[in-house]
Amino acid sequence: MNICVIGTGYVGLVTGAVFADLGNDVICVDKDTSKVNTLRRGKMPIFEPGLEEMVARNVEDARLWFTTDIGDGVRKSDVIFIAVGTPSAQNGESDLSAVVETAEGIARSMDRYKVIVNKSTVPVGTGDLVRDVIEQNKLRDVEFDIVSNPEFLREGSAIADTLYPDRIVIGAPNGNVAMRVVELYAPLERPMLITDVRSAEMIKYASNAFVATKVSFINAIANICEKAGADVLQVAKGMGCDTRIGPAFLGAGLGYGGSCLGKDISCLIHTADDLGYEFKLLKAVVDINAEQPGRFVGRMREILGGLEGKTIGILGLAFKPNTDDMRDARSIQVIGMLLAEGAHVKAYDPVASENARNILPQIEYSETAYDAADGVDALAIVTEWNEFKLLNLESLKERMARPILFDGRNIYDPQRMKKLGFDYYPIGRPRNARGCNGAGPAEAAPSQLVRKSALEKAA
Ligand code: NAD
Repeated sequence: MNICVIGTGYVGLVTGAVFADLGNDVICVDKDTSKVNTLRRGKMPIFEPGLEEMVARNVEDARLWFTTDIGDGVRKSDVIFIAVGTPSAQNGESDLSAVVETAEGIARSMDRYKVIVNKSTVPVGTGDLVRDVIEQNKLRDVEFDIVSNPEFLREGSAIADTLYPDRIVIGAPNGNVAMRVVELYAPLERPMLITDVRSAEMIKYASNAFVATKVSFINAIANICEKAGADVLQVAKGMGCDTRIGPAFLGAGLGYGGSCLGKDISCLIHTADDLGYEFKLLKAVVDINAEQPGRFVGRMREILGGLEGKTIGILGLAFKPNTDDMRDARSIQVIGMLLAEGAHVKAYDPVASENARNILPQIEYSETAYDAADGVDALAIVTEWNEFKLLNLESLKERMARPILFDGRNIYDPQRMKKLGFDYYPIGRPRNARGCNGAGPAEAAPSQLVRKSALEKAA
């Protein structure tokens, strides 16, 4: 099939490459000339494991092209995917200007029937908006249909997520139109769910909101565990074994970040408000998430006796491992607070340092994790790259002025850290907790607490 993908970012580029790999002819369109030129030179504008090889293979086999000419892409294609950015506006509303601009561009170039598939994350009702924009701007009397096909890929595993999605959601006005899109995805042999357009749009927001709720929920539990002497890793493991709950997104830490969860949740809260429903649960999810970096820095302040003049090494800047994406990364909040309190910050990230320099120009960048540890008063793990799990911790400790490690992602075993001589501060775990596979509770249950309240009740 002839496909056009408009917007060649994380979603558009991966989608285009995968559809080409499945044997389709794909034209990827972006208005960013430098991005298109980079791609034409065979270079990737983003870091995503496996992407460069897949793009190169399909460009060489003449199934994948890059252009800034939306008209050319639209005219040569039967199915057009919209995968442009939908950032948050100041009030939390979704900024749909790129979607509208794309719809206008499609309208002006349509020469025959097209299926227009919206892959960008957009508020419920946007399918109708795109339809109206195209109706108002089309130059020829041609038919078209709008489909919603929300994307669930995660940066860092985008190719695998696109090849093996849990489900493919296709929101279409009728069965015939849905079948055009089903046909495209059929070679993947994955579960497909056909819905109306509005429900498909809502599925994306509801899914992201639920994931964020799990993250904030476990972080709230971690905060209680800290006070009660329980180990959140064991609690999460016990919860995750329950098939009603499942283990995903129960890792306590600094909270969620990235280009999607934060903005999608703000947008859903805003949409709900517009429709006359106050989404109190989701507002609390946002508040808990916003508090986590401050709690982390607060602990550093307390243990180090103030942050003024202290040197802190940060390991991990990207919003999550295996990506260079710095959008809404927790490192931005953590480092911002450290700098505001007069600390000197050195940082290392395996791939995101270049992007981070634009956002955090005031800090020192190190070439390795060991360099970032040189002479520091404390180290802080902010992104859980695998590389950090495999560090030689003895060598790391030797480079530090003081062996204090704040682990915002719970990647080390507290007992091992203690044996190595670290002063180790995980999140929601007692400092002498066993590894998460250890049998039995990490330390005595908070029996004093229970006893105190029982005695009070009896009195
Ligand atoms: P991105 O910012 O990486 O890429 C968007 C691209 O669209 C940019 O290259 C930009 O130049 C291009 N663009 C903007 N306006 C254009 C126009 N008028 N014509 C042509 N190109 C235009 O964004 P992304 O991360 O790929 O996200 C795209 C959409 O997918 C968003 O709605 C996002 O919420 C959603 N999404 C993202 C992810 C993710 O992990 N990044 C996952 C699922 C869904």
